Amino acid sequence: MRRILTGCVVLLLLSVTVNAAVPLQLQGNLSQGSLVKGRVEVGTKVFLNNTAVATTPNGFFLLAFHREAPATALLKLVRDTGETETKTLTIAPRQWDIQRLTGLPAKMVTPDPVAEKRIALDNAQIKALRRNFLEIPYFESGFILPAKGRISGVFGSQRILNGKPKNPHNGLDIAGGLGGAVWAPADGVVVLAAPDMYYTGNTVFIDHGFGLISVYAHLQTMTVQTGQEVKQGDSLGTIGSTGRSTGPHLHWGTTLGSTHVDPAMVLEALGN
Ligand SMILES: [Zn+2]
Repeated sequence: MRRILTGCVVLLLLSVTVNAAVPLQLQGNLSQGSLVKGRVEVGTKVFLNNTAVATTPNGFFLLAFHREAPATALLKLVRDTGETETKTLTIAPRQWDIQRLTGLPAKMVTPDPVAEKRIALDNAQIKALRRNFLEIPYFESGFILPAKGRISGVFGSQRILNGKPKNPHNGLDIAGGLGGAVWAPADGVVVLAAPDMYYTGNTVFIDHGFGLISVYAHLQTMTVQTGQEVKQGDSLGTIGSTGRSTGPHLHWGTTLGSTHVDPAMVLEALGN
């Protein structure tokens, strides 16, 4: 018993020392469409623009800045002593590529009613995923690219078809060739492996914990199932052109909660 107690005291002392050695750390780009990883003393509460941000048992947290994020954001830290620190973050603007195409047939711009129905079902399923996430810090495994190949599309670009703005491109396209390998860029749980979604075809979603979810679209084959835990580097399937796709490529998307962030920025923040 005595030995156990001594052990506890040593542990407590250690954690106090470690805590004191961790000032606020931010890793990643403070820019529009970005993800940033932060670290605070364990027990510190974090708020971004007055909204609570969950922290992992190690004091890590994730922040997302959407494509149209304003020039500043307010980060507030409340230590377990009650002491409060506020910090104004400057969010750098980014230039997005805008493509205007006119004179297109109407059916190319507006999906028909049958397609609309499928799109609505897909979207409801995706929205539900993004509302419930795992509070397990899988993202602490770090991130790598999920496939090899040329980057054929970047995050944030937007097409305006017949004057109608379409959703901005919310991922990174990797043209790795039909049948090329796709792997998990980080640890996580496959929360949905869906065949034949309207836009994205065979699609895999991975929950990396604390709101960070990644998506792999247009797959030719899927080698994982819903509910399966994956480690960084595990196979997810192969590059294809399923769904609404103009050629074989992997569309890789990342979201924190409902905010789409640039996967390239996720690599900056969480890369290993
Ligand atoms: Zn894409």
